[in-house]
Amino acid sequence: MRFASTLKRAGEVSFRQAVFTGLAPDGGLYHPVTQPDLRELIYSFKDELSFKQIAEALTHTLFPEEISRSGAKRIINRAFSFTPKLISLEDGMEMLELFHGPTCAFKDFGAAFLASTLEEFLTEENSRAVILVATSGDTGSAVARAFYRKKNIDVVILYPSGRVSPMQEKQLTTVGGNITALEIMGTFDDCQRMVKLAFMNKELNSSLNLTSANSINPGRLIPQAFYYIYAYVQLQKSPEDSVIFCVPSGNFGNLTAGVYAWQWGLPARGFIAATNINDVVPEYLQTGRFRPRPSIDTLSNAMDVGNPSNFERLIHGLGGDAAAMRRLIHGERVTDPETKEMIKKAHERYGRLIDPHTAVGIEAALRFKAKFPQKANHIIVLATAHPGKFCSIVEAETGVHPKIPESLEESLHRTKEATLMAGGLQELSSFLKDKFS
Ligand SMILES: *Cc1c(COP(=O)(O)O)cnc(C)c1O
Repeated sequence: MRFASTLKRAGEVSFRQAVFTGLAPDGGLYHPVTQPDLRELIYSFKDELSFKQIAEALTHTLFPEEISRSGAKRIINRAFSFTPKLISLEDGMEMLELFHGPTCAFKDFGAAFLASTLEEFLTEENSRAVILVATSGDTGSAVARAFYRKKNIDVVILYPSGRVSPMQEKQLTTVGGNITALEIMGTFDDCQRMVKLAFMNKELNSSLNLTSANSINPGRLIPQAFYYIYAYVQLQKSPEDSVIFCVPSGNFGNLTAGVYAWQWGLPARGFIAATNINDVVPEYLQTGRFRPRPSIDTLSNAMDVGNPSNFERLIHGLGGDAAAMRRLIHGERVTDPETKEMIKKAHERYGRLIDPHTAVGIEAALRFKAKFPQKANHIIVLATAHPGKFCSIVEAETGVHPKIPESLEESLHRTKEATLMAGGLQELSSFLKDKFS
């Protein structure tokens, strides 16, 4: 599989080059030039296979020239100490829990695979890299945990002082080892600007081998396709059954990965794009107009995105064809009051505690089922975060206090370690040089 930029002004690159570069040099996003036909492999998977076994086979099959079978085994073994879990909600509806990783959200899958892949490539080349990443909260903690103790890699995370939640700050600043947290006196945009400037500084970039780990890196996208295939295999349905995936979406990376799996031959009938009131994509599917706009704060805050960066990739992957997208993807928009109502209803109906992002997904799936009872005999809703990350909302709606997962609880008792810094390239640049060269 080779990659090209959505803007078409940069040449084709290998997977290795794409993961080290992150963003294409012309400013576009890397996307696969052609998608392989993996139907035979996918249909050969038996339901007793573990997620790791499926991920390993897919990794090697997708990149046979770049990752050997033993390389794929090492990458997957080091990446995934956790697994997705398929749970039945009601007849014809399942929930795919993707929150059993170290930071209890689905972003752990992409971050873990990327970290292991970079470690494998750097070890082969006997070189080092510095990962530089700006975060508004969740991405940074997933990256911190995924890259902890990876060989030949140092990680520097920039976060906006006072603008991340106390739990997020603990997760960013207590990992230690090869992970360094920089507390920037500014906004998330300032952090992002500093990272961008550092990458544009040729001398700094080449002396430290700077690498990005942000959500647009194809090394985070590809592994997210694996759990769609795993879920389908677990469901034990034949290709004649119509299965639809419902994806709580913000930047649309997760949904794009699902579409990749479908292009490889996963027999899914379609997808539901479930958003909160930041509904740029559902609106596009309805009106044909793409109107990015400033985001609005909601309860499902990881989906508060007004200009979803992966939309470009999604439409590109479908040949730039809006009609093809409409045939494949149905959009639903869910408000905060509806989200709260769903958290309550899921507890009453299914006896389950769910987080606000997952609630958006289940609400959208139930609506779809009511509107089009013939279209799907199975809907799989992706559960993207653990309810224990959203204790107060969940407790307010259900009267039950969700258990905070151990891996989060533990970081709350550790001491914060971060370097306070003003927002500017000069200071960042000298810090990096002092520390790493
Ligand atoms: C990031 C995130 C999302 C949105 O995923 P995208 O790939 O950006 O669409 C949904 N739920 C949770 C919990 C997230 O952290």
